[in-house]
Parts: sequence; C-alpha cells; structure tokens
Amino acid sequence: MNYFNYRGKDLYCEDVALENLAKEFGTPLYVYSGKTILRHYHAFDNAFKSHDHLICYSIKANSNIGILNLLVQAGSGFDIVSKGELYRAMKAGADPSKIVFSGVGKTEDEIEMALIAGILMFNVESEAELYAIDKVAGRLGKKAPISFRVNPDVNPLTHPYISTGLKKNKFGIPHEKIIEAYKRALDLNNIEVVGIDCHIGSQITQLDPFNEAVEKMLNLIEKIESLGINIKYVDLGGGLGITYKDEEPAHPNEYGEAVLKYFKGINKKLIFEPGRVIVGNAGVLLTKVLYKKDTSEKKFIVVDAAMNDLARPALYGSYHSIVPVIKKEGNNVSVDIVGPVCESTDYLAKERTITEPEGGDLLCVMSAGAYGFSMASNYNSRLKPAEILVYNDKYYCIRERDTLEDLVSKENIPQIKVE
Ligand SMILES: *Cc1c(COP(=O)(O)O)cnc(C)c1O
Repeated sequence: MNYFNYRGKDLYCEDVALENLAKEFGTPLYVYSGKTILRHYHAFDNAFKSHDHLICYSIKANSNIGILNLLVQAGSGFDIVSKGELYRAMKAGADPSKIVFSGVGKTEDEIEMALIAGILMFNVESEAELYAIDKVAGRLGKKAPISFRVNPDVNPLTHPYISTGLKKNKFGIPHEKIIEAYKRALDLNNIEVVGIDCHIGSQITQLDPFNEAVEKMLNLIEKIESLGINIKYVDLGGGLGITYKDEEPAHPNEYGEAVLKYFKGINKKLIFEPGRVIVGNAGVLLTKVLYKKDTSEKKFIVVDAAMNDLARPALYGSYHSIVPVIKKEGNNVSVDIVGPVCESTDYLAKERTITEPEGGDLLCVMSAGAYGFSMASNYNSRLKPAEILVYNDKYYCIRERDTLEDLVSKENIPQIKVE
C-alpha cells in the first residue's frame, strides 16, 4: 500500500492531487502523508509487540510539531538532541516520561530544562557530561536518570558522514571505557543509572551491524550488572534505512526478529529511536521548472527548489527519485536538475534520465520526508518552503512559507555613523 500514486496522469498524496497543493501554496513545497507516517510507525511498533518496548521517534529527522503530534497520538515517545527539540515535543503534547535525550554537547540549561520536564533518561556521551548532569540535578534537588551511550566500534556499512558508532566518531563512550564510567556514576549522589544506549549510524540497510552491536551491548550489560547495577532500559538507537533508489533495507519485521532473538526471557525494556524509517518515504518536495539551459557539455533543468530546501544531495551526494507531478509524453533526456543557489553543489539530481520537462512543469522529489525540511536553511536569503500534511482527502498547512520580513526579523541596524 503506497500513499503516493498516479491517478491517470496526476500524482496524488493520499486523496489529494499534488498539482492542486502546488497551485494553492506555491513551490517549493514539502508535502507529507499522515497515513504513511502512521503506517510506518505501526509497522515498527508491531515488529516488537512480543517484548516490552518504547519507540522514541528521533525528532531531528522531521521536527514539525504537526507531525510530532500525529506520533504523540499514535503513542510514540521522542529522542531529542537539544532544548529546541524538547520544546517542540512538549508543544506537540508529548509525554515527558517517554523522552530520551541524546547528543554529545548538552548544556547546563538544556539539562535543567529536561530535568524539570521529567524525561525518561539522559543518554550520556562522556564522563564530563555525567558530572554536569549530577551538578545540575543536585542544584534542583533531583535524581537524574541516565544511561551511557556506548560507542561499540561497529561499522554500519553506510555513508561515512552518517556512521556514528566507529572508534573515530565523536559519539558515545568507547566500549572498553564503559565499565569505568558506570563505576563513576555509582559514586554520584544525584544520578540514577537506569540503562545503556547505542546508535551506530543512519541509512543502515543490512542486519549484521545491528546484530554485532546488540551482541556487544549484551556482553557489557552482563559486566555492568555484576557491579550490582540494574539495567532497566536497553536503547538500541535508530538507523534503519529506507529505499531511495534500489536499496533493499531490512523490513522492520526482520529487524525486530534479529533483535528479539537476543532478548528472549530477558526482562528489560527495549527502546528504539527510529527517524528516517518513519518519515523518509512519507514526504516529497514539489518544485517548479524555471528554465532549461543547454551547454555543449550538459542539459540543465533549473528548478525553484535548492540545496537550502533539501541539502542531502549537496551534503552526501544522495539520490532522490524525481518524477513529474503530471505525466506527459516526450523525449527522454539526460539532465542535471539544479537549484538557483550560487554553489556548484546545488543540485537535486545529476545525469538523470527523465521525460524532457518544459518551463512551468511541476516535479516531485521523492523520499524527502526525513532530513529535508529539518536541515533547510535560509542560505542565499531564500525563504524556507511551506509544509503541508495530507490526511485522507484533507490537507493542513503545518508551516507557512517564510516571508521576506521573517528573513530580517531578528536583525538590527546598529547606530553607527560611518565617518
Ligand atoms: C539521528 C539519530 C537517530 C535517528 O536516526 P535514523 O537513521 O533517522 O533512524 C537516532 N538516535 C540518535 C542518537 C541519532 O543521532
């Protein structure tokens, strides 16, 4: 069941024609399918139904509070990496006792805000951070629930920019130092050890890296528990990949089986932090063709969406499928689809064969729901696009397009009289 389908020549999101949304809200435009988000959430949730578990959707993949609220209603918790994400989660109606806080650089004011909110646990990434949390908790007269994020030194077999569990990565505590860290935590008055955590990378399509990580975690848990510490929560992070082109990632059910085989009869709550697999294929970016440009080398299609709207191609060389919003007849041509930003990395597709579009045609960039809008910027003083959430035959503007006033609303002209 797919919620982005052609009906005749027209591409629909659920029961809404994308052309109509482009007409009403303009382009570039992010459009999300609420049904797809929920289907992905439930598929993941079902994969673990035989074991006590909690899904903490990773907010950074797509942080719009309209989307977070759908997930709140489905029962999701959240993985946050900043006080901004905590604020978003609370705005969206999240239950703080289902929030885990990851990230290598939590500041004291972020720790304070999370302690006051009453989150489930901090995923601590260094001993220095442990002391900071202990200090803030002491000041507030609270006990901070923590787990340590282990760096298990596992190769996730993904793009090097999104691997996080290798020794050379900045994340987590090296697994050979983790026992030491738990011993330290035992000595602190304002810390309560509740779990262990890892997250090895993103867009992982194979199961072997996950198996390897779980085996290393179980090994550590045994050692930690021999110190008299009870590990209640085992947080295995996120990272399950999706299909952008021809990848064949494990289905959540296969991932579930792979993980659960290790936890039969083990009475610990499993926590997962999926991001991309929930929202990635639930969102698209609509863009309009501005100009066609032929050089002796190449054909360029200049569109109105750019790297500031969708950074993944420029940042990781990522592939996004691009299809017409209205199918038409025509010649197949090989083109570079590029945006208006003044950088040579500003492209959405390179040497892509598509039916030759004309100026004014609408194109749909697929699989743009994760790390799309959440990575968007105002570079080149471009206005961030609007975001639309479709649900059955209804649609909702969940973020308005930036205005020109928004661009300068935080800026001031100082009282300088130039001599
Ligand atoms: C980014 C991130 C996730 C989500 O990763 P996906 O690949 O989108 O599932 C989960 N946990 C942590 C700590 C992260 O940094």
